[in-house]
Amino acid sequence: MSYYIGIDIGGTSVKAGLVNEKYEIVKKMSLPTYSQAGEDNGEKLANALNKLVRDLCAETGIPLGEVVSIGAGIPGSVDSQSGTIIYSNNIVMENVPLRELVLARLGRKIEMANDADAAALGECLAGAMKGCKYAMMITLGTGVGSGVIIDGKIYSGYHSRGGEFGHTVVEIGGVRCTCGRPGCLESYASATGLIRMTKEEMMSDPQSGMWELVGGDIGKVDGKTAFDAREKGDASAAKVVDTYIRYLACGVTNFINMLHPQKICFGGGISHSGEALLAPLRAEVYKEVYGGADRYTTELVQASLGNDAGIIGAAMLGRE
Ligand SMILES: [Zn+2]
Repeated sequence: MSYYIGIDIGGTSVKAGLVNEKYEIVKKMSLPTYSQAGEDNGEKLANALNKLVRDLCAETGIPLGEVVSIGAGIPGSVDSQSGTIIYSNNIVMENVPLRELVLARLGRKIEMANDADAAALGECLAGAMKGCKYAMMITLGTGVGSGVIIDGKIYSGYHSRGGEFGHTVVEIGGVRCTCGRPGCLESYASATGLIRMTKEEMMSDPQSGMWELVGGDIGKVDGKTAFDAREKGDASAAKVVDTYIRYLACGVTNFINMLHPQKICFGGGISHSGEALLAPLRAEVYKEVYGGADRYTTELVQASLGNDAGIIGAAMLGRE
């Protein structure tokens, strides 16, 4: 049996797993992420990675020398060739030579990729898109993340700057995105966008059942509020969900017209709405997709590995 180590670096914790060649996680461990602004954040992250890898080996009895490759998914932009974190607002880092810092401590090279790319690879190897050569994962969380797999490999563009599908425009002159561009898909299809649209609709309809769901406190609105109220037959909530799905479908149809993957899987908080999200999304997308949807149709499915996708994908970066 061959073993690999994958590390998923998030805003609150660093999760690491020892993964075998069947893509099963044998053992998982985590440490809190140190994400206060400071000059030695990179050093602290490298220390955490070094500790997690050594602890995983010690706990499982697998010698470090027998681990085939080690990889990490980073929440931000990464230069995979040089092993540098270019920028991450999530873990507050800029131009951190993480590969070099880990090498000095662990004596091993780590592979690096954007976390959304690593998760897409994980779902493609072992999850909802298993066996697909052409696949895409869209994460509907605080932002809209995307990972593209072409010919079984991550496609990330020149110096890993590509694949930012969340920052394509679905509304010219629309709501300004965190990236600065008005009308990005992320401004509408993220949980942040859905919450904004939910609150706007509640303000214009004081009778909406959504108020009851949040106990009259608009600060308690989350990505489920509109979906839950729609289930109960609330008309304003249905309006919010319809608008949300129209924007998401616009983006997804664009991606299919560009890449035509075999499958697109959806992860992140909003994807937990399952078929309440996917059924109307399919209806909208298949109505508009170029060439029609009666054959070789891109399947739209829910991601199946949760947080493990990022660990498994990162573990296999060196094996690509
Ligand atoms: Zn944007």
